[in-house]
Amino acid sequence: MAKIRGAIVVDIEKCKGCGVCIGACPQEVIALSDNVNGKGYHYSYMKNPELCIGCSNCAIVCPDGVITVYRKKMDV
Ligand code: SF4
Ligand code: SF4
Repeated sequence: MAKIRGAIVVDIEKCKGCGVCIGACPQEVIALSDNVNGKGYHYSYMKNPELCIGCSNCAIVCPDGVITVYRKKMDV
């Protein structure tokens, strides 16, 4: 069976570091960066990218819509 792998891209300059996406991710993929964006917010990033299943939960809950989800079928 083909496995789905996902990846997210965060528009870091628009992220306000609210952390809502972190709680919504069933795979514990996301964390807040130690670095800050131009507005001084700790932005979210893929801490564990290999765990992402592309479920889109994070993108759905983000109040600012700054996450884009990509899904790819992997032949395993
Ligand atoms: S797409 Fe799903 S698994 Fe991937 S980071 Fe977002 S919530 Fe987590
Ligand atoms: S929910 Fe959106 S604004 Fe909040 S930390 Fe996640 S990506 Fe940033």
